[in-house]
Amino acid sequence: MKIAENLLEIKSNLPEQVTLVAVSKTKPVSDLMEAYNAGQRIFGENKIQEMVEKHEEMPKDIEWHMIGHVQRNKVKYMAEFVSLIHGVESFKLLKEINKQAQKHDRIIDCLLQIKIAEEDSKFGMSAKNASALLKSDDIAELKHIKIVGVMGMATFTDDRNQVKNEFELLNSTFTALKTINSELNILSMGMSGDYQLAIDCGSTMIRVGSSIFGVRNYN
Ligand SMILES: *Cc1c(COP(=O)(O)O)cnc(C)c1O
Repeated sequence: MKIAENLLEIKSNLPEQVTLVAVSKTKPVSDLMEAYNAGQRIFGENKIQEMVEKHEEMPKDIEWHMIGHVQRNKVKYMAEFVSLIHGVESFKLLKEINKQAQKHDRIIDCLLQIKIAEEDSKFGMSAKNASALLKSDDIAELKHIKIVGVMGMATFTDDRNQVKNEFELLNSTFTALKTINSELNILSMGMSGDYQLAIDCGSTMIRVGSSIFGVRNYN
């Protein structure tokens, strides 16, 4: 593997305003350490248990991002250290994150996941529900979470035009939501196959796994 090389190659072509999350799910700590030693400090995982184990083993100046679907009963395991949760899609989940963050006297940053893809398998809330959530009084009472932006995943397709349309939709949703909450400043969109397009469409945070660490083996 040429992890350090891949990482530096990607980073050298990123605009200044774009943050790279190195998606390390399924990969061993030795692979993550190679990226760490090449300067990477932000890692993304999609399973809480795996992120907890890697957090325990690795240097403490790493920012851990939870990019996967979050089960409410597992929030407690990551509340002490997680730095950004990308996949928030309900008020119920926000309440639980708030509760667990309070126990550690922290404020946890969260992104609202917006459904932009056609496929039913992609999670997320509608723009309308996100807007209602940001306006609600209930959310103002959650002092231990901070919503700092939105996240989305495009349809898995070769049709670049469709992907572009979905990214543009997320960007316009982001712009609209910012008028409700001016603290929103992160637009998380773009993965290995589509991050260039996502950046062209306004992404400020890309989540790249296989282009850095190689293909994943789920066995
Ligand atoms: C796995 C994953 C990625 C990274 O995918 P690659 O195609 O390997 O870059 C990005 N975002 C989410 C939510 C993921 O689950």
